[in-house]
Formats: sequence, structure tokens, C-alpha cells
Amino acid sequence: MSFRAGHGFDAHRLVAGRPFVLGGVTIPSERGPLGHSDADVLAHALSDAILGACALGDLGRHFPDTDARWKDADSMRLLEACAEMARRAGYELGNVDATVVVEAPRLAPHLDAVRGRLAEVLRIEIDAVSVKAKTSEGMGYTGDGTGIAAYAVATLVRNPT
Ligand code: MG
Repeated sequence: MSFRAGHGFDAHRLVAGRPFVLGGVTIPSERGPLGHSDADVLAHALSDAILGACALGDLGRHFPDTDARWKDADSMRLLEACAEMARRAGYELGNVDATVVVEAPRLAPHLDAVRGRLAEVLRIEIDAVSVKAKTSEGMGYTGDGTGIAAYAVATLVRNPT
């Protein structure tokens, strides 16, 4: 068996009047991430982590934001497609771990719902899905309310052929 690890990162600007969607869960907030799709940073970082573990490029290569098909796309569908690509390439998902950095809203009360949605879409157990929330103590774009960032890692196992 061969183990693989992948890393992903994403960031989006936060603006008024956009829904705050994180890991497929809409969280009450005055501001939400701006983007071509629903700008779900967590789904995007996890997608890149999974693709990265299989050396399959990145989300932008498979779902370019210049393509009208992905305008306002549900990023959880894109994440599901990335997990499927990994399976087709002969990999099985082990676990994922992510950190979301944002000053507001407070994410802690929503993290279990987010984990549940991710486990469903990735088709792994919820105890293989970790999502943590951090602030950056007022520093930088994640600290002054300008933006939100997510970091993720995924481990995969290559199926014996
Ligand atoms: Mg993104």
C-alpha cells in the first residue's frame, strides 16, 4: 500500500450581501465570500488537497473560473467530483484536516454540521473529517475582516492493482 498526502489552500474576499457558505453549510453572517462560484473556501482547499495527493493538478485546472458552467457553482459538487477523480485514479480517501481562518462570524457552533456535510460528500466517516476554526488576532486580511482563508490536508491510500 502506498500512502499519499496532499495540501490545499484557498482565500476569498468577504463582501456584504453574499451568503457565507462553508463546507456546504450556510452560516448566518453579514458578509460572505466573493467569487465566481459560491466561493466556499473550505471546499476549494479540500479539493486541492485531494487533487494534490494524486498529483492531478488543481481545482482551477479542472473547473476554470473563466467557464460559465461554474458560475455560482455549488463547490461541494466540485469537491465530490475531485474525490471521484481520485477514486478513478485508484486512490481511497483516508482522512482530511482543515483550518479556516476568519475573524467573523464565529464558526465553532457550526463545525460539526460542516464536518457532517463533508463526510457525506467525500463518503468517509465523520471521524475522518476534521475542521478547525482560527482567527488571526486582528492581523492581515483574515484579521481585519477583508477575507477568509482555508488550509487543508488530505491523506489517500493507493489501492493495490
Ligand atoms: Mg476559491
